[in-house]
Amino acid sequence: MMAVARRDPLRKTSKLAEFHTARSMRAFVRAAQAAGQVIGFVPTMGALHAGHGALIRRAAKKCDVVVVSVFVNPTQFGPNEDLAKYPRTIDSDRALIAEFGGHALFFPAVDEMYPKGAATTVHVAHLTDGLCGPVRPGHFDGVALIVAKLFNIVPADYAFFGEKDFQQVAVIRQMSRDLDFPVKVVPVPTVREKDGLAMSSRNRYLSVDERAKAASIYAGLSACAARVKAKPGVASKDLIALFTKTVLKAAPEARMQYVEVVDPITLAPVSKVTAEARLIVALFLGTTRLIDNVALRV
Ligand code: AMP
Repeated sequence: MMAVARRDPLRKTSKLAEFHTARSMRAFVRAAQAAGQVIGFVPTMGALHAGHGALIRRAAKKCDVVVVSVFVNPTQFGPNEDLAKYPRTIDSDRALIAEFGGHALFFPAVDEMYPKGAATTVHVAHLTDGLCGPVRPGHFDGVALIVAKLFNIVPADYAFFGEKDFQQVAVIRQMSRDLDFPVKVVPVPTVREKDGLAMSSRNRYLSVDERAKAASIYAGLSACAARVKAKPGVASKDLIALFTKTVLKAAPEARMQYVEVVDPITLAPVSKVTAEARLIVALFLGTTRLIDNVALRV
């Protein structure tokens, strides 16, 4: 067994431990836990940016050892989605993980995660009925499956997820509770560009013109949050209209996929904002699909 003292030698070195097999990754985590260390886990699909950085830094604050996974998970992409062109930048990811304060990288091949003959699915009901669920059929089953597998491979104490993917956090929290994973799911606020656009690996698909117009998404969300503060009890349909108008004024070609006001726990639509709610949106700018959300506090 690896002898690792608490508040540890790993923390002081920038050298990243790297694992490609489930077996070696799990052995590393088990050894660190046996030595009394608290493990934090940050699952990602790579192409890391400061949004992922916030998760890794938060994990490094709370935990002794931070494991980051990089895996572009094929089962969460639909047939017409961007699996083939999804950015893969492992060299810069390695450097950024170390810079953000991560200690270990899990970087498995597709066959390691989905060996021939794998037959199990994981479906989280209800929470996946709305928002991204119907427009990305199978997406959350793929997410739930890979995260369940990763939670078994990296049996961490804490796992960190970004609120940018608000529905995903809800689905993972539910899955984790239902399947008795002994991990605490920690949501981390969205990290934004200077103009408010939520950082995303997919922002690089935007043209210069689309990138400029994309700032209107956060402008619209912020206008709605301000409206709720000024007028508690405002009807959701008025907020939806305000958001849509704000975006379409800046980007008339934007195509709304959904704009909804939902309960932050159940994700059920609410008709007026009398308690905390979440405004959640998905839209296309050109061929790029962007999602974002904001808390509405009365
Ligand atoms: P991804 O690599 O896009 O699958 O994201 C990996 C994790 O990083 C997920 O928990 C995301 O919600 C989170 N994440 C991505 N972008 C951001 C952001 N701008 N702010 C905070 N967390 C983010």
